[in-house]
Amino acid sequence: ADSKQKQLIDLHEQTVKLYNHILTNTKMGQPALDYLHKRGVTDDTIATYKLGYAPSQRLLKPFFDERKVDYQLLRKSGLFSEDQDGNLRDRFVDRVMYPIRNGGGQTVGFSGRILTANPDMPKYLNSPETETFNKRKILFNLDLARMNIRNKQPAILFEGFMDVITAYQAGIKSGIASMGTSLTEQQIYDIKRITHDVVVCYDGDTPGQKAIKRAIDEFGEHDTTIDLKVVTVPDGMDPDEFIRNKGADDFNKLIDHAQAPIEFELTYLKKQYNLHSEVDQGNYIAEAIKLISHIDSSISRDLYLNRLADEFSVEKKLLQQQLMPLLKRTP
Ligand code: ATP
Ligand code: MN
Ligand code: MN
Ligand code: MN
Repeated sequence: ADSKQKQLIDLHEQTVKLYNHILTNTKMGQPALDYLHKRGVTDDTIATYKLGYAPSQRLLKPFFDERKVDYQLLRKSGLFSEDQDGNLRDRFVDRVMYPIRNGGGQTVGFSGRILTANPDMPKYLNSPETETFNKRKILFNLDLARMNIRNKQPAILFEGFMDVITAYQAGIKSGIASMGTSLTEQQIYDIKRITHDVVVCYDGDTPGQKAIKRAIDEFGEHDTTIDLKVVTVPDGMDPDEFIRNKGADDFNKLIDHAQAPIEFELTYLKKQYNLHSEVDQGNYIAEAIKLISHIDSSISRDLYLNRLADEFSVEKKLLQQQLMPLLKRTP
């Protein structure tokens, strides 16, 4: 069984080379190379991440047939789709190819991006689940980021792997990302095993902000074994766009000023209310007190109550009265 996995990985490594060659050395690959350059991806980065191009003309199948690769192995690789008669054809067509490596640095799958937006096609197409590729277990870039995280940089959790790649290119080398799914327990476990310092830096758009809220819950907001921080990227940009527009220094400032989860949650909560209305103000204050009641430190709780009292010019004593019954009493 072990050698089967090795064969699958070997097949992927050969595919990485072929797609990378097509991207960087052929006329067929030129539009994809132009696309990446236009996005600001450098040749160095293309080499580091071994990016590639799967052309319109399906040539992976003939490539492996020529090398007499076993049909069952090809079938199980996820690199091909299969028709009713069992015929295999290249799964990835006219897509920029991003190799997906496992924590050990072995390529176990791909994600392919279309070059131009097309409502009839998924923007990204991932390898299907195989014996070696389990999306829910993969953290993109963990193999390269691990050393930097161990050297005391916070693990920066991004939403998309283009964010990771652009950050890496800008010298921010501790970025990782899940594969477009929400975080799984396995991924959180793997992150916690290497660090306590995590900054969640998802897209600045509405879905990204919602995902941050989910991530806070999934990490366990009050898990004291982890120092979780949150960044909201301004103007609805994603980190990739932000870094390309504003540069690495500004991005590092965002990371340095990352918020505590409670700050993010209060800000996020506030956006749900129309604070010009007294009714909404009251509702906001009630919900905010619920959030504050989860804070472990009584001093922090007090500071947040002060802030709330000042902000809405209400008596702190009233806020305290609302807070008291919500506090968990520990013996
Ligand atoms: P780009 O900048 O290339 O448009 P992105 O990284 O900003 O891509 P988002 O739309 O923010 O992409 O999505 C974040 C992540 O979600 C992607 O990196 C990818 O893993 C996943 N994803 C996005 N769209 C799809 C899709 N249509 N099918 C599968 N996965 C997707
Ligand atoms: Mn997004
Ligand atoms: Mn994005
Ligand atoms: Mn993007």
